[in-house]
Amino acid sequence: MGAMTIRFLGTSARFPLPRWGCECPQCSDAQSNPQGVRSRPSILVNRRVLIDPGPDVYAQLAALPPDEVRAIRDVVITHPHPEHHLGLDDLSQFRHVWNLDQLPVWAQFDSWTLILVTFNYLVSHELDPGQGVPRPFSRSDMTLGEPFELGEGLTFTPFDTFHTSTFATAGLVIEQDDLRVVYAPDFYDSAFFGLAEPDLLILDGTFAAAEQVADAPDLYEGHGRHLPIEDGVRFAQAIRARRTLFTHIGHFQITPEELHAYLPDETFDVAYDGQVVELLA
Ligand SMILES: [Zn+2]
Ligand SMILES: [Zn+2]
Ligand SMILES: [Zn+2]
Repeated sequence: MGAMTIRFLGTSARFPLPRWGCECPQCSDAQSNPQGVRSRPSILVNRRVLIDPGPDVYAQLAALPPDEVRAIRDVVITHPHPEHHLGLDDLSQFRHVWNLDQLPVWAQFDSWTLILVTFNYLVSHELDPGQGVPRPFSRSDMTLGEPFELGEGLTFTPFDTFHTSTFATAGLVIEQDDLRVVYAPDFYDSAFFGLAEPDLLILDGTFAAAEQVADAPDLYEGHGRHLPIEDGVRFAQAIRARRTLFTHIGHFQITPEELHAYLPDETFDVAYDGQVVELLA
């Protein structure tokens, strides 16, 4: 019998929760409810694949047992928005402290173009002369619709989530044995056949309802489209997800009870920082 483990390192959208100085119902709840405190979105799969090292990666990994940090073997970046990749520099320091080998970083070709503008000095690639100190990361390219395997039969298939238009944003179908997890923290739409009947769907929770999208104070033009939770529920039902957890949680300014009113039954819930989900095949 196989097993897959998903650890939520962070579950906020672009900015952490609670917001500084905010006394809305959501932020007030987070003052006394640890599950309301959220850092930038990231997960660890089977203790070995780190997805989306964001600006909070240092604190997120420092909270783990050292053996779990040392066990990380690969990094995957869904897309180069700041909350999904700006932790690469901090992660390079962790690698140094724990004496880790060079870590392969997986991203799409057009993501790499943007990632290397900031982090070229951290990544070895074909044009690297290969002299001097080895760089912390090596470049690996992933392509929409093409599965790649990261050890022990763990397979990742990137698919387009139609979140962005100037570069492609990947969701990930993560499979091992008969288990299928879909991770799509930034999601607008998909018709990818590989999503059907996942054991666990982890979906975009930037907005609760469609009317919030129109007057969202933090949404800048061109920062990407997000399917609201009320529509995400319908998407989850359409692909017959066995269980759905919303992550990438935005600043709704409503209570947890009001948020849960959008969830139709016990197969839906909201993820929280530090949550560990173990799936058995
Ligand atoms: Zn607030
Ligand atoms: Zn994004
Ligand atoms: Zn995002």
